[in-house]
Amino acid sequence: MTLPVTIDADRCIGSGMCVTTAPTVFDQNDEDGRALIRSDAPLDREREAVRQAVARCPVGAIQATA
Ligand code: SF4
Repeated sequence: MTLPVTIDADRCIGSGMCVTTAPTVFDQNDEDGRALIRSDAPLDREREAVRQAVARCPVGAIQATA
């Protein structure tokens, strides 16, 4: 299954803005602080929050296709 949200790990600077904006969708890697998509992320219910996270990411590392 292809997730409708992806993160470019090479671009992510670990700002945490996406986690602040949509904490049920995004989390940060314990090792380097880079963002990841939570395995239990309720993507269908959080589309608006994901859109806001895309807009707020300071380096444009989040892509949302739905
Ligand atoms: S907002 Fe962008 S740079 Fe910050 S942790 Fe999330 S994906 Fe990484």
